[in-house]
Amino acid sequence: MSHHKHPKHPVDPGEMPPALAREHALVFEAAVEAGRRAGRKTAKKKLKRAARHGGIKLSKALRDATLRDAEKAGGRAAYAAATKALRKARHRALPPLPPRPPGTGQEPAVAVAGPAPADTAVPVRTRVRGSQIVLEVLRVKWLSQSMVRIVAGGEGFADFESNGAADQHVKLLFANPALGLVPPYEMRSLRGRLAREDLPVSRSYTIRSHDPVARELAIDFFVHGTDGVGGSWAAGAKPGDLLVLSKSKGKFRPDAGAEQHLYVGDESAIPAIAAALEMLPRNAVGQVILEVDSAADEFEIDRPAGMALHWVHRSGEPSATSTMLANALRELPAAHGQVEILALGERSAMQEIRRLLSHWDLDQRRITTSTYWTPGKARRSWSRVPETRADTGSM
Ligand SMILES: Cc1cc2nc3c(=O)[nH]c(=O)nc-3n(C[C@H](O)[C@H](O)[C@H](O)COP(=O)(O)OP(=O)(O)OC[C@H]3O[C@@H](n4cnc5c(N)ncnc54)[C@H](O)[C@@H]3O)c2cc1C
Repeated sequence: MSHHKHPKHPVDPGEMPPALAREHALVFEAAVEAGRRAGRKTAKKKLKRAARHGGIKLSKALRDATLRDAEKAGGRAAYAAATKALRKARHRALPPLPPRPPGTGQEPAVAVAGPAPADTAVPVRTRVRGSQIVLEVLRVKWLSQSMVRIVAGGEGFADFESNGAADQHVKLLFANPALGLVPPYEMRSLRGRLAREDLPVSRSYTIRSHDPVARELAIDFFVHGTDGVGGSWAAGAKPGDLLVLSKSKGKFRPDAGAEQHLYVGDESAIPAIAAALEMLPRNAVGQVILEVDSAADEFEIDRPAGMALHWVHRSGEPSATSTMLANALRELPAAHGQVEILALGERSAMQEIRRLLSHWDLDQRRITTSTYWTPGKARRSWSRVPETRADTGSM
């Protein structure tokens, strides 16, 4: 048996002969369409069976929403399967690529401020370096005065594999724009050449949504204060800028078997909580408590009608010392029984919430808490939030 190791991403559609690239796109389209149809058909059958055996009859709106969700899930699953199958097929069927002639590559439109100093510029390479995936910003949309949605896609989208979790997250890599580095970054070589404070830094962000059909994903960035590498990058991002991400992690999926759901978090957690709310069955019931500074930081969040949403306001109090989430939880009647709890946010707030929950009579296996940020962590001198904020790219 051969143990020959193949490179993970040997071919991208842009490098294939046009006929093959077209075939590649058609296979994907056909797979997603078949998956969508299969998802709908299976869900329809299950609903029929449930109505026959359990006497469960859904309203038309709920039935339509369930079928739509099943269709989407089928499309997503088929996309993932097609990605895997194509990768395997490429390893077997395609001859090695000829080297790309100089100057004809797809040098990305890099977002750099000013020319790159000659000794820090790195050779241009597209696509994956190690686990780095390079996407292009397609659209920028402000959801509130402090939350900005970046929608990204492009050629690198094929390298991203969604794991389907509500809290699916990635590490984003940010480089000092004054250095003119071009992703994917050759970190080992940069470590040898750059001062520590000039190296690209990573920050964790949730994949708010992933659309295999439109071939794009969205990340919602909280622009906190006036600095922060991730927040300030997003506040100044525009179509064509590049976004470098790792493979995704995360495993939280709402528990459809829970009697109630209680989701709690600050701005950093809103993307994961919003994704979880979209995954809940439409007849789910429970509470959502979200902490923001003021009403200007609130925005529309799609959720089942039975999930009551409460916004709590810091009203200028620093988020690092806020106790609003735990206070809001204390005001609820103590939950008991089969309640699913998801709490995400600042470290000491999460510690307090864990203490509080330990006094409630709950099934501890249904509790998920996680620290999403810690006050006073590293800043970088290059991060500065720009003054103007505007949506860009066609929505
Ligand atoms: C799994 C996971 C998923 C996450 N998903 C998201 C997401 O989808 N969207 C999102 O906006 N954040 C998310 N976060 C939180 C995000 O990683 C941190 O807030 C991160 O510090 C932001 O990086 P930055 O470069 O903007 O700020 P940093 O350079 O890390 O920090 C600069 C300063 O800002 C302060 N600061 C950092 N974060 C916050 C905050 N949230 N609120 C107030 N002050 C802060 C710090 O105290 C520090 O002094 C997630 C974190 C994890 C672990």
